[in-house]
Amino acid sequence: MRAFLIVGNRALTMPFNLNNLTAGRMDVLCRCIAQSLFISHGIRRDVEVYLLLLGEPEPPKAIRVVGSEVKNMAPDERNIAGLLRKALMLGADEWKRSSPGIYIGRKNIKDLLVELSEKYEVVYLREDGENIRDAVKELNNPLFVLGDHLGLSREIERVVLDCAMKIISVSPLSLQADQCIVIVHYELDRIDFRSMLNEAV
Ligand code: SAM
Repeated sequence: MRAFLIVGNRALTMPFNLNNLTAGRMDVLCRCIAQSLFISHGIRRDVEVYLLLLGEPEPPKAIRVVGSEVKNMAPDERNIAGLLRKALMLGADEWKRSSPGIYIGRKNIKDLLVELSEKYEVVYLREDGENIRDAVKELNNPLFVLGDHLGLSREIERVVLDCAMKIISVSPLSLQADQCIVIVHYELDRIDFRSMLNEAV
């Protein structure tokens, strides 16, 4: 399994206007979901995506998207935003399903990472981390934590660093969050497919 957690510093915590996805930078989160889950003509069933929504009016909220369960999702931002909007119509403390594969809950960063640490190795993606190509072979069920356009606040970063096994960099450049996700998939796919080929020989 692979998972991604994207921190939306201003991401809206109420149903939002689908004609203005830059409000709270919901567009960034939708692109991250698309790049985490979609391949050409298919969905990565072994991927989960988590969003931490920290914007007004009711932060924090978390959304969970399960690749093996999602139905009727298309890779375009507006379609994904519609599903997030539907989730935000539900009030829920614990995970509650709003549509196939999409859940919402009231979680802060600590609750979320404590819960996810039981299932995943937490990896923080940051520009100054270890080169992904050196680090990737040692990863087991990784959960990659990324910031949105604003990165991570110092307070959130402290919690992430408490839980993280590694800090990994995907490029010498500072990239957009969804670009980082594409590179992570590429590096993990190279390893997975190479070992599948070796096993077949
Ligand atoms: N101005 C923001 C900052 O200073 O943190 C830029 C954030 S960047 C657009 C979004 C996120 O992508 C970052 O918080 C980080 O998690 C990840 N990121 C960007 N470039 C990266 C790189 N080269 N290696 C690893 N992660 C990176």
